[in-house]
Amino acid sequence: MKTATLSLQKRGNKLASPSAQVDFLSHTSIGDSFEEKLQNTGIFPLTATGVDIFQVNVGKMCNQVCKHCHVDAGPDRKEIMTRETMQLCLDALKGTDIPTVDLTGGAPEMNPNFRWFVEELTAMGKHVLVRCNLTIILANPKYHDLPEFFKKHQVEVVSSLPYFTARRTDAQRGEGVFERSIKALQMLNEVGYGKEGSGLTLNLVYNPTGSFLPGDQAGLETEFKRRLKTYDIEFNNLFAITNLPVSRFLEYLVDNDQYESYMEKLVNAFNPAAAMGVMCRNTLSIGWDGYLYDCDFNQMLDLKLEPNAPNHIKNFDLGKINNREIVINQHCFGCTAGAGSSCGGETA
Ligand code: SF4
Ligand code: SF4
Repeated sequence: MKTATLSLQKRGNKLASPSAQVDFLSHTSIGDSFEEKLQNTGIFPLTATGVDIFQVNVGKMCNQVCKHCHVDAGPDRKEIMTRETMQLCLDALKGTDIPTVDLTGGAPEMNPNFRWFVEELTAMGKHVLVRCNLTIILANPKYHDLPEFFKKHQVEVVSSLPYFTARRTDAQRGEGVFERSIKALQMLNEVGYGKEGSGLTLNLVYNPTGSFLPGDQAGLETEFKRRLKTYDIEFNNLFAITNLPVSRFLEYLVDNDQYESYMEKLVNAFNPAAAMGVMCRNTLSIGWDGYLYDCDFNQMLDLKLEPNAPNHIKNFDLGKINNREIVINQHCFGCTAGAGSSCGGETA
């Protein structure tokens, strides 16, 4: 996999447009559509069960330009959540019992108000989880103390490491990323992350480096633990996730003439139990500009919440959000294949 250096948007690629992606996905059905598949298994419409995870995408700016990125993030993306929109998120969370706030991006730490937001959230008693790409910790001296900052606020750290070898990791995430990720993991371990009894959780995310489905999560976790031990690295859990045909991974599939065969794999591996457990059912996703979505993938496709639910954080209404129907399309097959896939790994 050749790594990109610019976002789709910067390259003027037509797949930078969410509507072009939705159009492509909608007109390239392989067998049943996702909606038909749900109907045939008696789980249509898919509905929310509540909100346990309030996932805030604080911006598309990132220090990396990973080949598979569904956000089309990179250093050339400037969209970031303002403090005012963060305040709207805090106002919405006040008075709810939503336990977990999941901060994602881009590299969420690059948002200038990131630390303030974490402090406000933890002061409210929320469990904060940060999707840290690891290399950000070493990207600039101003980020070197992130492990201590995370520790101070008992933030759960979830970090992508596609593989335990440099070749496969760098092919997906960029030259030198593996080495810097290892160093960052060691820094997190040094302050206690991933260490038994520390109460500081460090989870890793594995995703395939090509157009194939992830292997068994438990087996991968055992193998990652064994291989990372050689670098003296410890972590808690490994989440195995499936690449969804969105944004730069969609570009990769199309460019390599693998879209149809990949979709066929996803469709053939459809698992009703995984469909019942998809993360959108208990998640609310908030975009950098405050718009609301069922998940981060729908956010990137600009598929906002269904019309009966509010579409912006300033109109937050938990009752309506809890009772919404989920907006689906063909990319959803990525969440329901095999053992299922979510931001927290397998779902079935
Ligand atoms: S996958 Fe993560 S680290 Fe890579 S470019 Fe996208 S947001 Fe950045
Ligand atoms: S892509 Fe999003 S909306 Fe579709 S099943 Fe997965 S989590 Fe739900």
